[in-house]
Amino acid sequence: MTENGIAYERRSAAPVITPVQPRRLAKVPFVELAEGRLQGVVSSASRVYVSSITAGDHGLSCNTNNNRPCGGLGGTRPCNHIGALIDAAVAQYGLDRVTRYLKVTLPDGGQDIRAALHAKAAPNRAPEVFSSFLRHLAYLELPPTVEPLPELQWFPATAATPR
Ligand SMILES: [Zn+2]
Repeated sequence: MTENGIAYERRSAAPVITPVQPRRLAKVPFVELAEGRLQGVVSSASRVYVSSITAGDHGLSCNTNNNRPCGGLGGTRPCNHIGALIDAAVAQYGLDRVTRYLKVTLPDGGQDIRAALHAKAAPNRAPEVFSSFLRHLAYLELPPTVEPLPELQWFPATAATPR
């Protein structure tokens, strides 16, 4: 791990995996279980947040892609972006895989990962996660297509909806 922004070796863009359930790409265009974290990109109120939860100790991090801290993340309480990230991860990977990865213990029959986190604050991971997202987009752009990519719908130019 580096704290000073120096890139380190990691796998290149993950192959596109068919989600367990359909998920809303306009809300959470990117989610992955990688580097010991559940991490991803959440679009909210025309801002882009980069959120992560570390596996095991449940360190929470949420910042805009410009590295501004998320106002909704108060120490150990997950913000709505982290909640949306968890929902997207469960849709993408299934509940069992996400709980195993994060080492969350759910009560019998429980499905609420957010409530089961024993969370603490974690260092800002936005630059690393956002660059992973950009690699993911680059991967998606490889096949030539004229179809709009759902992963890009959150960009203001294509996601503009009248208020
Ligand atoms: Zn947040």
